[in-house]
Amino acid sequence: MPKKLFIICGLFLICVVGFFAFGIRYVKTHPEKITSFIEQVTLPYKIAKLASQEPDATILMPVYGTKVSGITDTWGAPRGNDRTHEGQDIFATKGTPVFSGTSGYVLYKGDVELGGNAMYIIGSGARRYYYAHLDRFADGIHIGQSVTPDTVIGYVGNTGNAETTPPHLHFGMYAHREALNPLPLLVNR
Ligand SMILES: [Zn+2]
Repeated sequence: MPKKLFIICGLFLICVVGFFAFGIRYVKTHPEKITSFIEQVTLPYKIAKLASQEPDATILMPVYGTKVSGITDTWGAPRGNDRTHEGQDIFATKGTPVFSGTSGYVLYKGDVELGGNAMYIIGSGARRYYYAHLDRFADGIHIGQSVTPDTVIGYVGNTGNAETTPPHLHFGMYAHREALNPLPLLVNR
């Protein structure tokens, strides 16, 4: 019996030492993964804090080198048989940098049916800003990351259902589940 116990304890010890040795090596070789993990797990707390603040009164033009006056207001325009346009389209050359229009945190980043490469950023007042049809995302940008209007989040493209249209950023704004027109809040950089 003591021999059996001795073997079990020995194996357990080997596992513990192995786990720590591997863990320490992993932390040393992937410091960015640890930071992004912490950013992700603390995101709900940051969202709760944002929800207690007033929403932003202005949004900086997200597409580099474009002016607000150049946007054709298509808010509420029919799209297909059963939808209306819940946002604004900002046209620019493919690959033009897209900045966050506000400060906040990356809430979602991925490939969605209509939006293609799309990202949600949550800002003050827990308002969500939607950036869609991106050609690609900015290098290293990840969920939970803190962004400011100086942060490049991606590049203009025509992914998703914009495949057959000229490259543009579809920019949307949501309060709870309601879509709001972002155009009145947009200001030039
Ligand atoms: Zn659109």
